[in-house]
Amino acid sequence: MASSIYGIDAWGHGLVSVLPDGKIALNDPLAPGSPPVALPDIVRDLQERGIRTPIQLRVQSFLDYGVQRLCAAFRQTISQVGYRGAYRGVFPIKVNQQSEVVRRIVETGKSHGFGLEAGSKPELIVALAQDLSQDSLIICNGVKDDEFIRLAILSRKLGFNTVIVLESLKEFEIVRRVSDEIGVKPMLGVRVKLTQTVTGKWEASSGDRSSFGLGTYEVVQLIDRLTETGFLDCLVLQHNHLGSQVPNVIDVRRTVTEACRFFVELRKMGVPLSYLDLGGGLGIDYTGENRSTDNSVNYSVEEYCTAIVETVGYAMDEVGEPHPTIVTESGRFVVALSSMLIFDVLDATLYDVPDKPKGQEGDHHYLADLMAVEDYLEPRRVQECFNDAVYYRDEIRALFRRGVIELREMGRAERVFLYTLARIAQVNRESRSGGDLDAQLESYVDYYHCNFSLFQSLPDVWAIDQIHPVIPLQRHNETPTRRAILTDITCDSDGKINHFVLADGLHKALPVHDLRENEDYLIGVFFVGAYQETLGDLHNLFGDANVVTIALDGEGGFSVEHETEGDSIAEVLSYVEYDPQDCLAAFRKRVDNAVARRDLSADERRVLISAYKDSLAGYTYFE
Ligand SMILES: *Cc1c(COP(=O)(O)O)cnc(C)c1O
Repeated sequence: MASSIYGIDAWGHGLVSVLPDGKIALNDPLAPGSPPVALPDIVRDLQERGIRTPIQLRVQSFLDYGVQRLCAAFRQTISQVGYRGAYRGVFPIKVNQQSEVVRRIVETGKSHGFGLEAGSKPELIVALAQDLSQDSLIICNGVKDDEFIRLAILSRKLGFNTVIVLESLKEFEIVRRVSDEIGVKPMLGVRVKLTQTVTGKWEASSGDRSSFGLGTYEVVQLIDRLTETGFLDCLVLQHNHLGSQVPNVIDVRRTVTEACRFFVELRKMGVPLSYLDLGGGLGIDYTGENRSTDNSVNYSVEEYCTAIVETVGYAMDEVGEPHPTIVTESGRFVVALSSMLIFDVLDATLYDVPDKPKGQEGDHHYLADLMAVEDYLEPRRVQECFNDAVYYRDEIRALFRRGVIELREMGRAERVFLYTLARIAQVNRESRSGGDLDAQLESYVDYYHCNFSLFQSLPDVWAIDQIHPVIPLQRHNETPTRRAILTDITCDSDGKINHFVLADGLHKALPVHDLRENEDYLIGVFFVGAYQETLGDLHNLFGDANVVTIALDGEGGFSVEHETEGDSIAEVLSYVEYDPQDCLAAFRKRVDNAVARRDLSADERRVLISAYKDSLAGYTYFE
């Protein structure tokens, strides 16, 4: 099947499959064996309800699956290894702050004692409004002021297990003052910088050059100060953030080993630590490579759990210390798989020329040479033909710049070049000659112009070269005949996707089908549930996309659980301090002046004003 080129089985996590009619479908991981639901059908149904693309589609059971898999993996590992402590996960709110997402995670995680991590005051406000279970934790990280700390300590009175993780000695002085003032003792943690670094995208922010936490000497100073002030018994948690998207499980073992050394030393100093919080880092295999590369991981969630639970167990047993409760702040793992971005292709710029342009009397000999390349094209000589074509094309361009060749001839030469390139690409595909040529030909692919903003909906693709699986959502029973780079509708040349994961590795272009008249061509970007939703910006004033949460019904159908309409143009304008009413008034004044000058009829006035008004109320994307 044509679909095998996309490598869906490798990166799909069992959630994505292809139907015999060529449509991409979603599989419910919590109802194995239930019929898959065709994604293009979901989109069509949503469109009929008036929800237009681009759509950020969230699948409830994919989200539940994230929470449940993490908790189940720790539970199983703990029992297999014979670990004598518990696991208490927390979800870091910054990874997806949407109220609906946080609420669902809390609900699903309730029976597992799953809690929340707040890295800021607003996030703590969110956490304190959730229906958390009694034994779950709220972990407060980040830089904290008086108000943040006051709220965290006061929440203890309501039965919340709110832990203030100290990031500095100064922070403790605020804690002490506030705690004395209100007469409530805090639960404290200390963020300790490890000396070991982890590899991957965030290598520079790990180790002792991390901008967060206390170095070894400061930790000792803090313990002395806690002892002096009678707060030592409040320090119950040691925090070590291992990083994010840690690609290599060996790094987990190494850093946890060091974390345990600190833990044991601190207990020796009389600190009543009972929680070891290992932060984030549990990665997602976005590319399905199962390797320690930036967008993949070389381990499963079970291996990650084993690396932690075993390491901590051994380290404690060695010195006869009781096993602590293990905490992780896994955000990406919990939410990344839960949503996808779906958009339509609006138009294409094609770089192939199907029919050979004819030569003309008086053509420059370089053009004749370029025309002749096709005559000696054969599998053995594809690279040579490519080199020749590029050489002649470049010579012709140089001649044009020097005034030797005219615009029409130059235009024909460019077409002959593209025609020849298409033939070379075809022979290359058929003969699979490989080598440099595959990569070189990828520089001459088509552009498919798509209805989305990279800056708004996929900021990490732009900022940190994040790779998400991207595939067409239909026609997988037809061989894709084109290769394309996907461009967005911002007028920024950075607004494009040009890294794709396919079955045979990473490519700069995506295999796509010819567009058809009056037929939507939908593309899906998968696993965008982590970090993407609120990091995005308003470049070119493209606003939030429509967000829809669906539940799969187990019988091949689905229901819409929640819908958030994307921004209207008026909303986006107000974010940058325009008053849409003022804009309308100014426009109307201009129209009225034109009517007064008799440049416009009354009828034209009505058409103009209503076009402006409709646009203000409408979606920022193509409708
Ligand atoms: C961002 C962050 C996390 C989440 O990390 P993931 O790799 O997404 O799981 C956890 N803890 C802290 C302190 C963070 O800053």
